[in-house]
Amino acid sequence: MSISRVAIIGLGLLGGSIGLAVKARGLAIATTGWDREPSVRERAAARGLVDQVHDTPDAAVAGADLVILCVPVGAMEEAARAIAPGLAPHAIISDVGSSKAAVAEALAAALPGACIIPAHPVAGTEQSGPEAGFATLFAGRWCIITPPEGVDPAALEALSDFWTALGSKVELMDAAHHDLVLAVTSHIPHLIAYTIVGTASDLEDVTQSEVIKYSAGGFRDFTRIAASDPVMWRDVFLTNRGAVLEMLGRFSEDLTALQRAIRSGDGDTLFDLFTRTRAIRRQVIEQGQDDERPDFGRGHGE
Ligand code: NAP
Repeated sequence: MSISRVAIIGLGLLGGSIGLAVKARGLAIATTGWDREPSVRERAAARGLVDQVHDTPDAAVAGADLVILCVPVGAMEEAARAIAPGLAPHAIISDVGSSKAAVAEALAAALPGACIIPAHPVAGTEQSGPEAGFATLFAGRWCIITPPEGVDPAALEALSDFWTALGSKVELMDAAHHDLVLAVTSHIPHLIAYTIVGTASDLEDVTQSEVIKYSAGGFRDFTRIAASDPVMWRDVFLTNRGAVLEMLGRFSEDLTALQRAIRSGDGDTLFDLFTRTRAIRRQVIEQGQDDERPDFGRGHGE
Protein backbone atom coordinates (compact mmCIF):
# COMPACT_ATOMS: atom_id res chain seq x y z
CA MET A 1 0.00 0.00 0.00
CA SER A 2 1.51 3.32 -0.97
CA ILE A 3 0.54 6.81 0.08
CA SER A 4 0.43 9.34 -2.72
CA ARG A 5 -2.22 11.74 -1.39
CA VAL A 6 -2.45 13.05 2.18
CA ALA A 7 -5.23 15.23 3.56
CA ILE A 8 -4.44 17.36 6.62
CA ILE A 9 -7.38 18.46 8.77
CA GLY A 10 -6.44 21.38 11.06
CA LEU A 11 -3.75 23.64 9.62
CA GLY A 12 -1.98 24.83 12.77
CA LEU A 13 1.48 24.00 14.13
CA LEU A 14 1.28 20.24 13.59
CA GLY A 15 -0.78 20.18 10.41
CA GLY A 16 1.30 22.95 8.83
CA SER A 17 4.57 21.25 9.78
CA ILE A 18 3.46 17.96 8.16
CA GLY A 19 2.60 19.77 4.91
CA LEU A 20 5.86 21.72 4.91
CA ALA A 21 7.92 18.61 5.71
CA VAL A 22 6.35 16.66 2.80
CA LYS A 23 7.26 19.51 0.47
CA ALA A 24 10.76 20.16 1.86
CA ARG A 25 11.71 16.48 1.64
CA GLY A 26 10.52 16.28 -1.96
CA LEU A 27 8.22 13.34 -1.29
CA ALA A 28 6.03 12.20 -4.18
CA ILE A 29 2.92 12.94 -2.15
CA ALA A 30 0.18 15.46 -2.98
CA THR A 31 -1.13 17.34 0.06
CA THR A 32 -4.54 18.87 0.63
CA GLY A 33 -5.86 20.62 3.72
CA TRP A 34 -8.87 22.02 5.46
CA ASP A 35 -9.40 23.95 8.70
CA ARG A 36 -12.78 24.97 10.11
CA GLU A 37 -11.59 28.56 10.44
CA PRO A 38 -11.69 30.54 7.14
CA SER A 39 -8.89 32.91 8.19
CA VAL A 40 -6.67 29.92 9.03
CA ARG A 41 -7.40 28.47 5.57
CA GLU A 42 -6.40 31.75 3.96
CA ARG A 43 -3.19 32.07 5.95
CA ALA A 44 -2.34 28.40 5.33
CA ALA A 45 -2.78 28.88 1.58
CA ALA A 46 -0.67 32.05 1.66
CA ARG A 47 2.18 30.14 3.37
CA GLY A 48 1.80 27.16 1.02
CA LEU A 49 1.42 24.72 3.91
CA VAL A 50 -0.24 22.20 1.56
CA ASP A 51 -0.57 21.98 -2.23
CA GLN A 52 -4.29 22.77 -2.08
CA VAL A 53 -6.36 24.25 0.73
CA HIS A 54 -10.05 23.38 0.32
CA ASP A 55 -13.12 25.17 1.67
CA THR A 56 -14.93 21.98 2.69
CA PRO A 57 -13.78 18.83 4.51
CA ASP A 58 -15.30 16.63 1.77
CA ALA A 59 -13.21 18.22 -0.95
CA ALA A 60 -10.05 18.07 1.18
CA VAL A 61 -10.27 14.33 1.88
CA ALA A 62 -11.56 13.24 -1.57
CA GLY A 63 -9.20 10.57 -2.95
CA ALA A 64 -6.80 10.80 0.02
CA ASP A 65 -4.91 7.60 0.94
CA LEU A 66 -4.13 9.03 4.37
CA VAL A 67 -6.09 11.62 6.36
CA ILE A 68 -4.36 13.10 9.41
CA LEU A 69 -6.46 14.93 11.99
CA CYS A 70 -4.35 17.73 13.46
CA VAL A 71 -6.96 19.40 15.68
CA PRO A 72 -7.10 19.65 19.50
CA VAL A 73 -7.86 16.30 21.13
CA GLY A 74 -11.31 17.47 22.25
CA ALA A 75 -12.22 18.32 18.62
CA MET A 76 -11.15 14.96 17.11
CA GLU A 77 -14.63 13.44 17.08
CA GLU A 78 -16.21 16.53 15.53
CA ALA A 79 -13.49 16.70 12.85
CA ALA A 80 -13.84 12.97 12.14
CA ARG A 81 -17.61 13.37 11.68
CA ALA A 82 -16.99 16.29 9.32
CA ILE A 83 -14.74 14.24 7.01
CA ALA A 84 -16.80 11.03 7.12
CA PRO A 85 -18.95 11.63 4.00
CA GLY A 86 -15.97 12.44 1.76
CA LEU A 87 -13.58 9.61 2.69
CA ALA A 88 -12.30 7.16 0.10
CA PRO A 89 -13.11 3.58 1.17
CA HIS A 90 -9.40 2.65 1.33
CA ALA A 91 -8.32 5.73 3.35
CA ILE A 92 -6.20 5.36 6.49
CA ILE A 93 -7.36 7.75 9.21
CA SER A 94 -4.72 8.92 11.65
CA ASP A 95 -4.12 11.87 13.96
CA VAL A 96 -1.40 13.65 15.94
CA GLY A 97 -3.24 14.06 19.26
CA SER A 98 -1.26 14.15 22.50
CA SER A 99 -3.45 11.60 24.31
CA LYS A 100 -4.26 8.34 22.61
CA ALA A 101 -6.85 6.10 24.33
CA ALA A 102 -9.54 8.82 24.28
CA VAL A 103 -8.77 9.74 20.67
CA ALA A 104 -8.96 6.10 19.54
CA GLU A 105 -12.38 5.87 21.17
CA ALA A 106 -13.60 9.15 19.64
CA LEU A 107 -12.44 8.21 16.14
CA ALA A 108 -13.94 4.73 16.34
CA ALA A 109 -17.27 6.25 17.41
CA ALA A 110 -17.27 8.76 14.55
CA LEU A 111 -15.96 6.47 11.80
CA PRO A 112 -17.20 2.92 12.40
CA GLY A 113 -15.52 0.41 10.09
CA ALA A 114 -12.80 2.81 8.92
CA CYS A 115 -9.08 1.95 9.05
CA ILE A 116 -8.07 4.03 12.08
CA ILE A 117 -4.45 4.12 13.29
CA PRO A 118 -3.82 6.84 15.91
CA ALA A 119 -0.36 8.36 16.25
CA HIS A 120 1.48 11.02 18.25
CA PRO A 121 4.59 12.75 16.97
CA VAL A 122 6.47 13.72 20.14
CA ALA A 123 7.57 17.05 18.73
CA GLY A 124 6.20 20.51 19.21
CA THR A 125 6.71 24.03 20.45
CA GLU A 126 4.72 26.49 22.55
CA GLN A 127 3.52 28.24 19.35
CA SER A 128 0.28 27.50 17.56
CA GLY A 129 -1.58 28.50 14.41
CA PRO A 130 -0.76 28.38 10.68
CA GLU A 131 2.30 30.64 11.06
CA ALA A 132 3.89 28.32 13.62
CA GLY A 133 4.66 25.26 11.47
CA PHE A 134 8.12 24.45 10.11
CA ALA A 135 9.50 21.67 7.92
CA THR A 136 12.06 20.25 10.36
CA LEU A 137 9.73 19.84 13.36
CA PHE A 138 9.78 16.03 13.17
CA ALA A 139 13.43 15.49 12.23
CA GLY A 140 15.06 13.11 14.71
CA ARG A 141 11.95 13.09 16.94
CA TRP A 142 9.89 10.07 17.91
CA CYS A 143 6.49 9.37 16.46
CA ILE A 144 4.54 6.92 18.61
CA ILE A 145 1.94 4.93 16.68
CA THR A 146 -0.75 3.17 18.75
CA PRO A 147 -2.30 0.60 16.38
CA PRO A 148 -5.60 -0.91 17.50
CA GLU A 149 -5.95 -4.68 17.70
CA GLY A 150 -6.50 -6.33 14.33
CA VAL A 151 -5.00 -3.44 12.38
CA ASP A 152 -4.26 -4.02 8.68
CA PRO A 153 -0.47 -4.62 8.63
CA ALA A 154 -0.08 -3.01 5.19
CA ALA A 155 -1.80 0.17 6.40
CA LEU A 156 0.36 0.24 9.53
CA GLU A 157 3.50 -0.14 7.44
CA ALA A 158 2.38 2.65 5.11
CA LEU A 159 1.77 5.01 8.05
CA SER A 160 5.14 4.11 9.65
CA ASP A 161 6.89 4.69 6.33
CA PHE A 162 5.18 8.09 6.02
CA TRP A 163 6.48 9.27 9.41
CA THR A 164 9.93 7.84 8.72
CA ALA A 165 9.98 9.78 5.44
CA LEU A 166 9.29 12.97 7.44
CA GLY A 167 12.46 12.28 9.47
CA SER A 168 10.80 10.74 12.53
CA LYS A 169 11.84 7.64 14.42
CA VAL A 170 8.77 5.41 14.78
CA GLU A 171 7.81 3.39 17.84
CA LEU A 172 4.70 1.23 18.27
CA MET A 173 2.94 1.29 21.63
CA ASP A 174 -0.31 0.34 23.28
CA ALA A 175 -2.53 3.45 23.70
CA ALA A 176 -2.89 3.08 27.49
CA HIS A 177 0.88 2.75 27.92
CA HIS A 178 1.44 5.79 25.69
CA ASP A 179 -0.88 7.80 27.92
CA LEU A 180 1.02 6.80 31.06
CA VAL A 181 4.45 7.53 29.57
CA LEU A 182 3.37 10.88 28.18
CA ALA A 183 1.69 11.82 31.46
CA VAL A 184 5.17 11.72 33.03
CA THR A 185 7.27 13.10 30.20
CA SER A 186 4.95 15.81 28.92
CA HIS A 187 1.62 16.32 30.66
CA ILE A 188 2.81 16.63 34.30
CA PRO A 189 5.77 18.89 33.32
CA HIS A 190 3.26 21.19 31.59
CA LEU A 191 0.99 21.11 34.64
CA ILE A 192 3.91 22.01 36.91
CA ALA A 193 4.89 24.88 34.61
CA TYR A 194 1.31 26.19 34.53
CA THR A 195 1.20 25.93 38.34
CA ILE A 196 4.48 27.67 39.12
CA VAL A 197 3.82 30.50 36.68
CA GLY A 198 0.30 30.89 38.10
CA THR A 199 1.58 30.82 41.70
CA ALA A 200 4.26 33.43 40.98
CA SER A 201 1.75 35.73 39.35
CA ASP A 202 -0.57 35.45 42.39
CA LEU A 203 2.07 36.27 45.04
CA GLU A 204 1.33 39.27 47.18
CA ASP A 205 4.66 39.96 48.87
CA VAL A 206 6.77 39.63 45.69
CA THR A 207 5.65 41.94 42.91
CA GLN A 208 4.86 40.82 39.34
CA SER A 209 7.56 43.15 38.05
CA GLU A 210 10.13 41.46 40.33
CA VAL A 211 9.06 38.01 39.13
CA ILE A 212 9.62 39.08 35.53
CA LYS A 213 12.76 41.13 36.19
CA TYR A 214 14.59 38.24 37.88
CA SER A 215 13.09 35.47 35.74
CA ALA A 216 16.48 34.36 34.35
CA GLY A 217 16.98 32.57 37.69
CA GLY A 218 14.93 29.66 36.32
CA PHE A 219 11.35 30.95 36.16
CA ARG A 220 11.60 31.97 32.49
CA ASP A 221 12.18 28.35 31.40
CA PHE A 222 8.83 27.47 32.95
CA THR A 223 7.16 30.44 31.24
CA ARG A 224 8.05 28.97 27.82
CA ILE A 225 6.14 25.78 28.59
CA ALA A 226 3.33 27.67 30.33
CA ALA A 227 2.83 29.75 27.17
CA SER A 228 1.57 26.62 25.36
CA ASP A 229 -1.83 26.63 23.70
CA PRO A 230 -4.64 26.76 26.33
CA VAL A 231 -7.19 24.83 24.23
CA MET A 232 -4.76 22.04 23.40
CA TRP A 233 -3.65 21.60 27.00
CA ARG A 234 -7.12 21.86 28.50
CA ASP A 235 -8.10 18.98 26.20
CA VAL A 236 -5.01 16.92 27.06
CA PHE A 237 -5.81 17.01 30.79
CA LEU A 238 -9.48 16.28 30.23
CA THR A 239 -8.78 13.29 27.97
CA ASN A 240 -5.79 11.78 29.80
CA ARG A 241 -7.33 12.24 33.24
CA GLY A 242 -6.64 8.74 34.63
CA ALA A 243 -2.93 8.55 33.78
CA VAL A 244 -2.31 12.18 34.79
CA LEU A 245 -3.98 11.72 38.18
CA GLU A 246 -2.04 8.50 38.79
CA MET A 247 1.31 10.14 38.02
CA LEU A 248 0.35 13.30 39.90
CA GLY A 249 -0.15 11.13 43.00
CA ARG A 250 3.43 9.85 42.69
CA PHE A 251 4.72 13.34 42.06
CA SER A 252 2.95 14.74 45.15
CA GLU A 253 4.49 12.03 47.34
CA ASP A 254 7.98 12.82 46.03
CA LEU A 255 7.39 16.54 46.53
CA THR A 256 6.31 15.93 50.12
CA ALA A 257 9.49 13.88 50.70
CA LEU A 258 11.59 16.79 49.44
CA GLN A 259 9.64 19.22 51.61
CA ARG A 260 10.46 17.00 54.61
CA ALA A 261 14.16 16.87 53.63
CA ILE A 262 14.34 20.66 53.40
CA ARG A 263 12.52 21.13 56.71
CA SER A 264 14.76 18.65 58.53
CA GLY A 265 17.98 19.91 56.93
CA ASP A 266 18.57 16.56 55.21
CA GLY A 267 21.15 17.72 52.65
CA ASP A 268 22.11 14.17 51.62
CA THR A 269 18.62 13.48 50.26
CA LEU A 270 18.65 16.70 48.27
CA PHE A 271 22.19 16.13 46.98
CA ASP A 272 21.48 12.52 45.93
CA LEU A 273 18.35 13.49 43.99
CA PHE A 274 20.01 16.45 42.28
CA THR A 275 22.92 14.19 41.25
CA ARG A 276 20.55 11.65 39.73
CA THR A 277 18.59 14.31 37.84
CA ARG A 278 21.78 15.81 36.42
CA ALA A 279 22.61 12.40 34.93
CA ILE A 280 19.18 12.27 33.31
CA ARG A 281 19.82 15.63 31.64
CA ARG A 282 23.06 14.16 30.21
CA GLN A 283 21.12 11.21 28.76
CA VAL A 284 18.56 13.53 27.14
CA ILE A 285 21.42 15.32 25.37
CA GLU A 286 23.27 12.11 24.46
CA GLN A 287 20.11 10.79 22.81
CA GLY A 288 19.80 13.94 20.69
CA GLN A 289 16.62 15.16 22.37
CA ASP A 290 18.03 18.59 23.31
CA ASP A 291 20.71 21.16 22.66
CA GLU A 292 23.89 20.55 24.65
CA ARG A 293 24.95 24.16 24.71
CA PRO A 294 24.74 25.73 28.18
CA ASP A 295 21.48 27.54 28.86
CA PHE A 296 19.99 26.03 25.65
CA GLY A 297 22.46 28.05 23.56
CA ARG A 298 20.99 31.40 24.55
CA GLY A 299 23.26 34.32 23.74
CA HIS A 300 24.55 36.24 26.77
CA GLY A 301 25.61 39.41 25.04
CA GLU A 302 29.21 38.27 24.53
P1 NAP B 1 -3.01 24.52 16.58
O1 NAP B 1 -1.76 25.16 16.06
O2 NAP B 1 -3.93 25.32 17.45
O3 NAP B 1 -3.84 23.99 15.31
C1 NAP B 1 -5.07 23.34 15.43
C2 NAP B 1 -5.97 23.82 14.31
O4 NAP B 1 -7.15 22.99 14.27
C3 NAP B 1 -6.47 25.26 14.52
O5 NAP B 1 -6.32 25.99 13.32
C4 NAP B 1 -7.94 25.05 14.87
O6 NAP B 1 -8.79 26.12 14.47
C5 NAP B 1 -8.27 23.84 14.06
N1 NAP B 1 -9.49 23.16 14.52
C6 NAP B 1 -9.99 23.09 15.77
N2 NAP B 1 -11.12 22.35 15.80
C7 NAP B 1 -11.34 21.95 14.51
C8 NAP B 1 -12.32 21.16 13.89
N3 NAP B 1 -13.32 20.61 14.58
N4 NAP B 1 -12.24 20.96 12.55
C9 NAP B 1 -11.24 21.50 11.83
N5 NAP B 1 -10.25 22.27 12.36
C10 NAP B 1 -10.31 22.48 13.69
O7 NAP B 1 -2.68 23.19 17.39
P2 NAP B 1 -1.45 22.18 17.24
O8 NAP B 1 -0.38 22.55 18.18
O9 NAP B 1 -1.14 21.99 15.80
O10 NAP B 1 -2.11 20.86 17.86
C11 NAP B 1 -2.89 20.00 17.07
C12 NAP B 1 -2.88 18.60 17.70
O11 NAP B 1 -1.52 18.18 17.80
C13 NAP B 1 -3.47 18.52 19.09
O12 NAP B 1 -4.27 17.36 19.19
C14 NAP B 1 -2.25 18.38 20.00
O13 NAP B 1 -2.56 17.61 21.15
C15 NAP B 1 -1.27 17.67 19.09
N6 NAP B 1 0.17 17.91 19.37
C16 NAP B 1 0.59 19.17 19.66
C17 NAP B 1 1.94 19.39 19.92
C18 NAP B 1 2.44 20.78 20.27
O14 NAP B 1 3.51 20.92 20.83
N7 NAP B 1 1.71 21.83 19.97
C19 NAP B 1 2.85 18.34 19.86
C20 NAP B 1 2.39 17.06 19.50
C21 NAP B 1 1.03 16.86 19.26
P3 NAP B 1 -9.26 27.20 15.59
O15 NAP B 1 -8.07 28.04 15.83
O16 NAP B 1 -10.40 27.88 14.93
O17 NAP B 1 -9.69 26.43 16.81
